[in-house]
Order: sequence, then C-alpha cells, then structure tokens
Amino acid sequence: MSAPYDDDGFDLEENSVDDLDGFGDGIDRDDDDVPMQSNAELVLLHDAAHVWHPYTQHHQAPLPVPIVRAKGAWLYDANERPILDAISSWWVTTHGHCQDDIIDAITEQAKRLDQVIFAGFTHEPAAALAAELVQRLPRGLSKIFFSDDGSTAVEVAIKLSLQSFANRGTPRRLIAALNNAYHGDTFGAMAASGRGVFTQMYEPLLFEVARLPDPTEGDTIAALDALIAERGSELAAVIVEPLVLGASGMRVWDEQVLQDIRERTAAAGVHLIADEVLTGFGRTGPLFACERADVRPDLLCMSKGLTGGVLPLGATAATEDIFDAFRSADRAKTFFHGHSYTANPIACAAALASLELFDDDSEDDRVRIEVAHARHLDALRRVKGVRTVRQIGTIAAVELDAPAGYLSDIGRELAAYALQEGVLLRPLGNVAYCLPPYCITDEELDLVYGVMHRFLGGARAEMLTTGGPVDD
Ligand SMILES: *Cc1c(COP(=O)(O)O)cnc(C)c1O
Repeated sequence: MSAPYDDDGFDLEENSVDDLDGFGDGIDRDDDDVPMQSNAELVLLHDAAHVWHPYTQHHQAPLPVPIVRAKGAWLYDANERPILDAISSWWVTTHGHCQDDIIDAITEQAKRLDQVIFAGFTHEPAAALAAELVQRLPRGLSKIFFSDDGSTAVEVAIKLSLQSFANRGTPRRLIAALNNAYHGDTFGAMAASGRGVFTQMYEPLLFEVARLPDPTEGDTIAALDALIAERGSELAAVIVEPLVLGASGMRVWDEQVLQDIRERTAAAGVHLIADEVLTGFGRTGPLFACERADVRPDLLCMSKGLTGGVLPLGATAATEDIFDAFRSADRAKTFFHGHSYTANPIACAAALASLELFDDDSEDDRVRIEVAHARHLDALRRVKGVRTVRQIGTIAAVELDAPAGYLSDIGRELAAYALQEGVLLRPLGNVAYCLPPYCITDEELDLVYGVMHRFLGGARAEMLTTGGPVDD
C-alpha cells in the first residue's frame, strides 16, 4: 500500500470483521460514539473486501481516500482534511459541490415524486427540463431523449441515426469517428472510441467504424472527403467530441474543422453527432462547444454537467427530422430503447436547478477562470519539464515532458504528490489538467498551479529518490 493514503497509520491487516459494530450508521452521524477515524478504517476494510473500483488495478492501487463530505470546490476526508477538487470529480461538478439551490430542488422533488415509469407517463421535471434544454441548445435540436449517463447518451445517438435511415428505407450502417476519441465504455461507445488500452481487449467484438485523423494530428477534412466520395451512401453519422478530445489528453482542436465537418456531412446527408458529454454546460466557455463554433449538429449528447454533477442523468437531443423518421403507423419503426430510470424526476429537478444557476453569474465565473488559467499556463509553458500547454475555456492542460500514453508513470506520480499537498489531480498519462468547478476562486487556482510548479521544480525528483509517496 502506498504512503500518501496511510500516513495516519491505518493497517488493514489489524482490523477484523468483528470490529464492524456501528458501521453504516456512520453516514448520518448524530451520535458520536464511533470516532470518525475508526469509521474511516471500517470503510476501507469493507471497501477492500468487497468493492471493485472503476479504472483501478487492484493489485497495486493505493488505498482509496474515504470522503465524508464536500462543499464548493472542496472535498473533506474522514479527518476533515480538505482536498481541492481541481478536476470536478471526473468532470461532472459544474457550480460546486453541495450547491444549496440544487440540493433544495432535489430534497423538494424527492418528497413529491421519486420515480415513475417514463413510457406512458410524464412529469413536470422532465417536461420542463426538455423545454429548457431545447431553448439553450443549438438551433434545430427540438427533441430530448433521456438516459442514464454519457455512454448511454452516445448509444442512443448512434442508434437514432442508424434507425432513422433504416426507417426511411435507405439503410446506412457506417459510423465515422475521430482517432483518439473517447465516447464511453459501453459497446457502441467503445466502437466509436479510438483504439487504446480501454478498447483493445474487445476489438474483435466491436462494429466497424471508419476512422478519421484527429484534427490535431492530421487532415480530418481530406479524410472525410475521401470517405464520403468512397462510401458516402453507407455513412450514417460522424461522431465527434467538439473542439476538445477529452480523455485522450484534452487535445484542443480548431473551430474551423468542426465547421467544415458540419458542411461536408450536411452536403452528404450524413448526421453529425456532437458528443458534448464533457464540453457541455460551459466547459469551453459558452453552454455548448457547438455554440462556440456556431455549428448545429443533428444529434447532441449530454451528461456529466447536466445535473450540475450531482446525480447521474444522460440526454440526447435530436432534430425534428430525425424524430419524424420514427413516427409511423408501422410499430416496427418505434425506437425500442429505454432505461429503467429514464428521466428520473429527482435527477431532472437537479438539472433544472443547475440550468437556472447558469443564467446567473456563472458566465462571469467562467470568464474569470479562463483568464486565470491563461496566466498560469503562460508561466508554466516556460518551466523545464513542460512540453506544451493548451486551453479552451475553463479547461487547462499541461503536457509533461515524459513518455505519452494513459499508462505513463509521471501522471500517477503527480497525482500522488498533489493529493499529499491537498489537491485532487488525475492526469491523463503525461497530461495534467485543471478542469475545476466554476465556484473555484483565484486563490484556490493558485494552489492547484502551485502544486504543479513544485512537482516540476524538484518535488518529483525528491519523491523518486526517497521512494515515496509513489510506489504504484
Ligand atoms: C465521460 C465521457 C463519456 C462517457 O460518459 P459516462 O457518463 O462516463 O458514461 C462519453 N463521452 C465523452 C466525451 C466523455 O467525456
């Protein structure tokens, strides 16, 4: 086990399952008989025995950090140690943790209507949310299909495109996607995603996807032109992460390329699917990245920031034209897709409250963050150990001078160092990034960048020679 997480001396071996009295009632702790610390130990004990974490190699992963509460940009561990959430808890938290208006909306909604089947029934939070989203989405997107998360929002978009062509009697079965793309972990989303450690394993089972060069590495438009010339009548949709390839290292790409993709796909009758699961809800500046490039896609996927990052919810927006392809006296043309929790009222209420917050001073905050990022990146770009920096809106990335790739060591070293310093970073291989909740202050951003500077300025070398805190 590695050092940064167990410096309070916790030893898994010393605890036995007989010690679990009082565990579980620790969530809402009015009684203080069980000290916090021992409760955290029990969390770790149960966790180690029974929990399988995402993206985690359990053979060597450091102990997870038990978090007991959060507020604004901060997480608090069991010892009340604050940890600054510089990555919005995996890109979801928009306004800040436990934002009062969102929590109130959830509480009120939970008392009134918790859940109802969404086929044959509807409710105010879903209907109001659909209407509010349509008002703010790029023009032309008028129908909202709800799902559970980013991956399912992508699955829905791909299936809607394919079936709309089939329903019209002109089937097209080919999807095109960018190299280095990430669209989620379900099978359709994996097929669309670039090949790498996440998807290689399943390669033989993934459907064919035409690959276009990622705009940061090649001529996407020339490749798209060639693809359309050769297989245009087979091509149903091109799916992209607009303006920034997130998971492959916050690779920022040009608005003009997105506009050209839109122009070429429109001319060929091919759908453009904008996967705004990351970029949606202000990350690139405006509410949607497509807006920034003045592009109107046929389908647009949302999730992460949709509820302000509080509850899981996915949504796919579609044009009236795509919706019309499913309207028919022939029941076989129905979109036979749905999830048990489709349009959960509590999640929709959170999303509505979050949208309202975007109407207030959220934009000022985002502009302020954008300016602070630019200033810090400008300083970092000159630091030894930094290969390059990039930014779009509130997303800032620092590519470190180290072997690339998701499995690169330097990222984990930086994450361990940052955590020790009270900052949550989770670099993508050799790419460190700051993607904060919009409530983060300039002083808090100083803390984040301070950690990066210290790491590059010698803390890393020191850590490597002393053997800690990284042993992963
Ligand atoms: C995170 C992400 C997804 C997957 O969303 P999940 O909610 O994790 O399933 C899809 N597309 C993009 C661009 C993402 O960043």
